[in-house]
Amino acid sequence: MRLILLGPPGAGKGTQARILTDKYGIPHIAAGDLFRDNIKNGTPLGKKVESILKAGTLVPDEITINMIADRLDQPDCKNGFILDGFPRNVAQAEALEKMLKAKGIKLDAVVQMAVKDAELIERISGRFTCGACGEGYHDKFKKPHDPHACDKCGAKDDFVRRPDDNAATVKTRLDTYHTQTAPILPFYESRGILKTVNGMAPMNEVTNQILAALEPKKSPDRHPAPKKGG
Ligand code: ADP
Ligand code: ADP
Ligand code: ZN
Repeated sequence: MRLILLGPPGAGKGTQARILTDKYGIPHIAAGDLFRDNIKNGTPLGKKVESILKAGTLVPDEITINMIADRLDQPDCKNGFILDGFPRNVAQAEALEKMLKAKGIKLDAVVQMAVKDAELIERISGRFTCGACGEGYHDKFKKPHDPHACDKCGAKDDFVRRPDDNAATVKTRLDTYHTQTAPILPFYESRGILKTVNGMAPMNEVTNQILAALEPKKSPDRHPAPKKGG
């Protein structure tokens, strides 16, 4: 399965990607996470992009595309991958198409997660994650069962909030989505692989919608199985 999860900041891409990565046994590749890892580790790439993430604008295409190309070259991507937060503009979508073509592979689906701006702001304002395993939480929509421990890995009092999840930066990120990222929807629509799910639904319903969208279309059964015992 080669899949892109596409949607504005806070749409639930990371949340769904973490579920699908377990289900399909393929890696979850989040552009934002790769940038944040580089920043945390103080790499030259991290130093270059830190102020850009803080401002909420897009990292230059050349840096982003090279980073994703390197990641897709890793052996764990051989049987598939879930891209989250890449591509984010038409130039990146075109670069990805070229990259995959060179490898002789094709995307199976691009899933658009549609969520209204007001809901996105509420989701982003209440978002936090486990610093140890990356599991995602929300102050209102997904609280850990024990407020001091991660449901998934048990890490104690290790929750983190992103510095760019603040009101001013969120506005920039939403504007960026509408002006630069939304134009890639027709790009994938024209390739016949765009599926849209209602990202406003509860998390498990969104998962079910995505799984339904990924199911191969059932064609009429022209060769019915022979009757048992006959
Ligand atoms: P969200 O989960 O809120 O959608 P991300 O973690 O995907 O946010 O991205 C965080 C930041 O990383 C973005 O605001 C942007 O600065 C940078 N970034 C992520 N993906 C890309 C990309 N494909 N191209 C350029 N910049 C990106
Ligand atoms: P993205 O990766 O698209 O930026 P996240 O997966 O990080 O979005 O989700 C943003 C916030 O909204 C998180 O705090 C998450 O727990 C919460 N969230 C995700 N999906 C839903 C949903 N369907 N309903 C309510 N809250 C959600
Ligand atoms: Zn954890």
